[in-house]
Amino acid sequence: MIVVMSTTRTPEQQAAVITRIQDLGLRAQEISGVERSVIAVLGQVYPELKDELSTLDGVEEVLRVSKPYKLSSREVRPNDTVVELSHGVRIGGGRPVVMAGPCSIETEEQLWAAARGVKEAGAHILRGGAFKPRSSPYAFQGLGVPGLKLLRQCGDEFGMPVITELLSVRDVAAVAEYSDILQIGARNMQNFVLLEEAGKTGKPVLLKRALSGTIEEWLLASEYILNQGNPNVILCERGIRTFETATRNTLDLNAIALVKRLSHLPVISDPSHGTGKWYLVRPMAMASIAVGADGLIIEVHPNPDQALSDGAQSLTPANFAELMREGSALAASIGRPFADVPVAVA
Ligand code: PEP
Ligand code: MN
Repeated sequence: MIVVMSTTRTPEQQAAVITRIQDLGLRAQEISGVERSVIAVLGQVYPELKDELSTLDGVEEVLRVSKPYKLSSREVRPNDTVVELSHGVRIGGGRPVVMAGPCSIETEEQLWAAARGVKEAGAHILRGGAFKPRSSPYAFQGLGVPGLKLLRQCGDEFGMPVITELLSVRDVAAVAEYSDILQIGARNMQNFVLLEEAGKTGKPVLLKRALSGTIEEWLLASEYILNQGNPNVILCERGIRTFETATRNTLDLNAIALVKRLSHLPVISDPSHGTGKWYLVRPMAMASIAVGADGLIIEVHPNPDQALSDGAQSLTPANFAELMREGSALAASIGRPFADVPVAVA
């Protein structure tokens, strides 16, 4: 249930509405929009509550939310959420941003070569995994904390915010210390304790869709983060598992267009994991922009044939530069030009 406050309400009236909600054993979460302020009522609401709250001073109207997810819904917040990062980078609100870098951070040379390539091509955010969720325990698991430190140093040198995966509650403090965005991977979309702990850090969280996650489950998962009072959630479509084996996953473009309609949260696309094949990444990146994605996350490696993870879907810096040329032309042609690239400080 949503309480829409009148534009002429006083702070005392707003506080009284919140107290009333809390006295009923429910939770109240304030959401201040550009034009209006609303209070989301969380918990087991009952039909009569609508009338009870409508009569309170300062209340304009009370709406029942028909969706099971609330804080992520456009019914609650009609305007796009914009996530603000360092270097003036903003995700959401119209102009797509591009995150790029290696699947895994392997060595200093590899990370710097990838970062140089993606920065020169116009990427906004540097990606790189330090904790890797590998199907086999015998595969490369990532460099761990030393990898996080390299990523931070590299991002600072190239003037880019950084994103890396948070795999376990064990690593929340370390990842939050070194990374600007905490990435929750597909395999952890419904690791609810991890979502809550990530939410508590207050840092922007990128929530990937699970391999078999429905759109409703994905949005409900985002509520675990938003519920912690952390509004900075970015959704990422990374392909779902279907009967098709010719590609690694099936990038669900429907989901991007639909979630943009259902939710105010930014939605970005990961055509690298969505296809598993480097030569499909550029076409599916273009399609993602065309259907309204707020950005892309792309795997780039200086030598994909030597990559310790996901080499087959990694672009060379030259192929990534081609994607950026084509992508920025397409984005501009549909009136949603790529966001400005931060100027390097180092
Ligand atoms: C990754 O970004 O390298 C990754 C492991 O992604 P996902 O969780 O989508 O598989
Ligand atoms: Mn990967």
